[in-house]
Amino acid sequence: MERSLAEIELIVRNRICNVCTSRTVDGEFGLENPTSCALFRLFPQVAHAIQSVRSDDIQQYVDAIRRQVCTVCSDQAPDGACETRQQVQCALDAYLLLVVDAIEEVTGKTFDRNKMSGGAGAPVRLGPQISF
Ligand code: SF4
Repeated sequence: MERSLAEIELIVRNRICNVCTSRTVDGEFGLENPTSCALFRLFPQVAHAIQSVRSDDIQQYVDAIRRQVCTVCSDQAPDGACETRQQVQCALDAYLLLVVDAIEEVTGKTFDRNKMSGGAGAPVRLGPQISF
């Protein structure tokens, strides 16, 4: 079943915002400036990147996100480096495994996470509240 961008965005939001450490105890968005969250700011690009891939390889989706999201993110330096990512301050990067969960929900596929790398040479990090 083909999902709309709005549906994909909702799935990603439900997966990640609910466990994000930036939420307040009341469940409200906790950052002073919502646009300081790259994931929040770039949801349409994240959803579009997921929708643009048809593959059984999760790395293809991760690479598409890196290509289509990080390249238009104001936090990324011209050389591809990202201080926000280095400081584990990017929700998209920190919660990448939850993004994969959302991709699985969107596509109905189950991916081999051992095949994942962070793309662009970066290791995949686990979010602060994720444990496996
Ligand atoms: S990793 Fe950096 S460039 Fe990519 S979305 Fe996050 S803040 Fe933006």
